Amino acid sequence: MSHVIGLKCRECGAEYPANIQNTCYECFGPLEVNYDWEYIKEHISKEKIERGPSSIWRYADLLPVEGTDYVDLGAGFNKLHHAKNLGRELGLKELYILDESVNPTNSFKDRVTSVAVTKAREFGATAIGCASTGNLASAVAAHGAKAGLPAYIFIPSSIELGKITQMSAYAPNIIAVEGTYDDANRLASEVADMHPDWAFVNITVRPYYTEGSKTLAFETAEQLGWQAPDHFVAPLASGALLCAIKRGYDELAKLDFIDSSDNIKVSGAQPLGCSPISCAVRENKEVIPIRELNTIAHSLAIGNPADGYYAKNVILDSGGYAASPTDDEIIDAIFLLARTEGIFTEPAGGTTIAGLRKLVEEGRIDPDERTVVYVTGNGLKAQDTLIKHIKVPQAIKPTFSEFEKQYKQLVVAQ
Ligand SMILES: [Zn+2]
Repeated sequence: MSHVIGLKCRECGAEYPANIQNTCYECFGPLEVNYDWEYIKEHISKEKIERGPSSIWRYADLLPVEGTDYVDLGAGFNKLHHAKNLGRELGLKELYILDESVNPTNSFKDRVTSVAVTKAREFGATAIGCASTGNLASAVAAHGAKAGLPAYIFIPSSIELGKITQMSAYAPNIIAVEGTYDDANRLASEVADMHPDWAFVNITVRPYYTEGSKTLAFETAEQLGWQAPDHFVAPLASGALLCAIKRGYDELAKLDFIDSSDNIKVSGAQPLGCSPISCAVRENKEVIPIRELNTIAHSLAIGNPADGYYAKNVILDSGGYAASPTDDEIIDAIFLLARTEGIFTEPAGGTTIAGLRKLVEEGRIDPDERTVVYVTGNGLKAQDTLIKHIKVPQAIKPTFSEFEKQYKQLVVAQ
């Protein structure tokens, strides 16, 4: 007996055994993990979770892996900050931030990768791979190193140097593609077809991979004393993260761990220079893929979002909304978050905070709502972008008089 029955098509309901497969043979719909909820209800409890490790694996009963031999660098169970200073600045009475910049490779991608690589090893895959805008690349390379599996990483060549430096340290095979993420993803999918014994975490084992993001909902609810927020805001790239977080709350409600997930409003943020999902939400139309991407938020620059259709529906069905901040607003938000809460995020996190600010200004978030924001990556990854917006300090001679002179200038500047 296991808590996982297999895979199931999200569109037609066709069922398959748990295997390396991501698409329905009947209708080409996406597959998702099909759990045995009766089995899970008999084996899970809040107390068991609370006794578990300080990582995503405390929720193993709700993740699609067998056994306990996890590929684990310690992702997850990060602090839910009560962001009183930022809340005050934005006019929100109860604002929380789940800070993902502190994961092993400094983004939320460690969650999904830990699950996907554990599953890949379970399947006996001989290599792992991914298409990535940078954060997933480091997560896959690091977990590949831990698992002793070679990693093949497909990235657009235009991403931040800091991210290329980080991923290179773990010694994966990096294929830098001329073009966008969508071009890199297309090539990776072709390679995946030719190498069925390799597991591409966000392509061929995607149904298992996306499950890792549910733990963001689990951790939030647990740290709120097993309660759901009224509203949450997540960044939008492929749309998979936002859908998985909502699914996480739905599963906690199904288990009666929280009262209900029906009233949680779900909102998204996408940079204006790449905002197919946000536009679809704001204009209540279909998600139209775009080719021309123009944003500093490289980790959200996906023109053809795989889960865009589902993310749009989750947002609109919940009564939430979406925002599309400009690059300048994203930069402002990065520094706003850092100076109010001491959390330094990359442009993806800046997009989410800037989106939050716009949603409040537009009256889409009520000041009384208990609101949770997911900040997904670390500012140290995007230094080449942010250095242009920093005032580099002028060196002084190490004397007290020189300090006095500069101190007076600092006081005047304030
Ligand atoms: Zn189907």
